[in-house]
Amino acid sequence: MYSFTDELNRRLADLRAQNLFRELRRVDSAQGSHLKLGNQTLLNFSSNDYLGLANHPALKATAVEAVDKFGAGAGASRLISGSLAPFHELEDALADFKQTEAALTFSTGFAAAIGTITALLGKNDIIILDKLVHACIVDAARQSGAKLRVFAHNDLDDLEDKLRWAEAVQSPKPKAQSRSHTLVITESIFSMDGDAAPLREIVLLKEKYGAWLMVDEAHATGVIGKKGRGLAAELRVSDQIEIQMGTLGKALGTSGGYICGRRELIEYLVNRARSFIFSTAPVPAAAAAATAGIKLVQSTEGETRRAILFARLTELNSKLKTQISKLQSAIVPLILGDEAKAINAAASLREQNIYAPAIRYPTVARGAARLRITLTATHTAEDISVLARALDQIVNPVS
Ligand SMILES: *Cc1c(COP(=O)(O)O)cnc(C)c1O
Repeated sequence: MYSFTDELNRRLADLRAQNLFRELRRVDSAQGSHLKLGNQTLLNFSSNDYLGLANHPALKATAVEAVDKFGAGAGASRLISGSLAPFHELEDALADFKQTEAALTFSTGFAAAIGTITALLGKNDIIILDKLVHACIVDAARQSGAKLRVFAHNDLDDLEDKLRWAEAVQSPKPKAQSRSHTLVITESIFSMDGDAAPLREIVLLKEKYGAWLMVDEAHATGVIGKKGRGLAAELRVSDQIEIQMGTLGKALGTSGGYICGRRELIEYLVNRARSFIFSTAPVPAAAAAATAGIKLVQSTEGETRRAILFARLTELNSKLKTQISKLQSAIVPLILGDEAKAINAAASLREQNIYAPAIRYPTVARGAARLRITLTATHTAEDISVLARALDQIVNPVS
């Protein structure tokens, strides 16, 4: 008989043996182009704070003001103790930014996915996912009880096969309310590969088969397109996407998740999304800071920051001997395959005071381990040169 801790030690040893053990590294500085880890200062290429807003004076000042006015905590869920003004201001700003009728915010993007997908779909329904969608979408889809199908990453033929299958298995029911529904879910910019989904073509397909579409813009919001509105707006398909999702925790610089869409969708989620209903509202200061982030992203300063970010990407790509970026986003995956290889690469970078995380299973498939390098508007041209030199040594080591 194993005791509880023996069992856990056995499981942890197993993770270590597979090079899959992870641990937290304490950082004693704010997010930025540099991180303080112990007594080492590292050049940071691991953050999703793509525009450098997490430590921006305007967002911090707004958060401080909101703490003064609304306090440190929200007290209860928004349906119980009243819905604080900063959440309404944030949702108005989001709907305006995403040009939808309405928006609803959640404590995290993860909670937004879980609450929304399980509220909308049930065991009579079908969910079709891109193979590379985020863990929160996979978990939500499983939890909904709907039948699941996965299509090969960005593969329109495979998506159409799955839609045809869905059409065939959905026996038409006489009563409209018992009709089963099909939801297609994809990301717009993929979190670990940095590539873009063919959203226009996906929209055409889902319309052809009468399915609904949910698009997670976690890595596009604030970064892609005019005023950073995201890929759906840039491709002018927002109106055909039933559910637009994203996070406030990446380019927008704070924390929280959002859903944007029709007013009826938002009203329904307020009534049915369990992660919204049964969870204390986020800290009001986070909502206020996110509103400031949304305004900043759309301002001239936001435009300038995006221009710097994309200039840095171009510089990195031109400096590397092996070009690895498709330049579709701020995410540059350096795929190394073997888990140990990725860990060693990250360790070798760390010796050179560069921080870029090794991403392994289960975040990516086994054998698809990589360094995931993210650039931000706070990196300088010199930072990029330092990174490019170090990466070239990893790809083509000189003995
Ligand atoms: C980070 C992320 C989420 C989760 O958002 P959080 O606000 O961090 O919970 C959802 N989807 C994708 C694609 C993400 O990268």
